[in-house]
Amino acid sequence: MQPIQMVDLKRQYTKIKTEVDAAIQEVIDSAAFINGKAVTDFAAGLAAYNGSRHVIPCANGTDALQIAMMALDLQPGDEVITPSFTFIATTEVVALLKLKPVFADVDPRTFCLDPVAVEKAITPKTKAIIPVHLYGHSAPMQEIMGIAKKYDLAVIEDNAQAIGGVYRFPDGSTKKTGAIGTIGTTSFFPSKNLGCYGDGGAIFTDDDALASRLKMIANHGQSRRYYHDRVGCNSRLDSIQAAVLNVKLKRLDAYIAARRAAADHYDNAFNAHPKITTPYRASYSQHVFHQYTLVLGDVDRDGLNEFLAARKIPSMIYYPVPAHRQQMFAESGGADYRLPTTDWLTERVISLPMHTELDEDQLQLISAAVLEYVNKN
Ligand SMILES: *Cc1c(COP(=O)(O)O)cnc(C)c1O
Repeated sequence: MQPIQMVDLKRQYTKIKTEVDAAIQEVIDSAAFINGKAVTDFAAGLAAYNGSRHVIPCANGTDALQIAMMALDLQPGDEVITPSFTFIATTEVVALLKLKPVFADVDPRTFCLDPVAVEKAITPKTKAIIPVHLYGHSAPMQEIMGIAKKYDLAVIEDNAQAIGGVYRFPDGSTKKTGAIGTIGTTSFFPSKNLGCYGDGGAIFTDDDALASRLKMIANHGQSRRYYHDRVGCNSRLDSIQAAVLNVKLKRLDAYIAARRAAADHYDNAFNAHPKITTPYRASYSQHVFHQYTLVLGDVDRDGLNEFLAARKIPSMIYYPVPAHRQQMFAESGGADYRLPTTDWLTERVISLPMHTELDEDQLQLISAAVLEYVNKN
């Protein structure tokens, strides 16, 4: 059996090696390393895939969030509602721009922002909401967009973990996650569902004026060459990464199907176990399983992690410390927040290996090992 990894990028690469190698070589031969054809092709391909009018590629998913917030022209002290139960980038960028992150609690089933908590967190200073489609499950966008409309707020979807996810509205219409809010952002970090071989990110919007601001900010605030209208930054997706992404974008739906099949296998194995809650799949969300995350009942989580590690099965805690309890927010009163669901989940979640290359034998071994530990402890 192949060694089990949280994410197996090597095995995935061996299956697309010829195509990837040729695409990279083509960039090198063209010497168009920055803003080459691979980048424009990729932006167009991703826009079509996501059903977004504009895709602005950038250097990484954190920059994507930063550029999105800069384009909204928020002022220092403006409040932005975000989950605390997320990767730090979501909240860090808010503080970096001298805005105030306001942490709202999540739904214990979906791990995503709870719309009731969001509405409670709104003050006259609130300007934006950042729903995170955590682990690949969509946040409840119908409700969040409703709140945003009611209070005239911008919505930035952090789609770093859910690219390719589909959201179903109550009227039956669907949109890709990242294409619903005012702006969507994503990351092509190698382990993400659409990952390149380095860093990369992108920003989505349907708004033409916003798109030109986003483009300008990502390129030194430049309107035409060497004329800089506003303060921006330098955030580019390079052509070699775009070349890799062009090869992988064609396979994204197949990759998602493989992840969903692995999730089905796990679900069946743990089905109705009294100590294990398997990932919830809301009827509005087509889960793309960036992570397969269990919520443990009366189980020693560290014990399970060590038991699995001894059998060469990795497992991870995403994330061991929620944003509001991080040192970086200590001075601004992070720990004063009461986020019982976030704290409760932080103590109980554990993520199992999840990627496109998991085979039946591996899934069988992982599930059996988890059950063995949980049943005897
Ligand atoms: C990965 C990730 C980011 C940041 O992406 P980078 O490309 O690593 O900067 C932001 N938000 C979430 C939820 C992520 O998972």
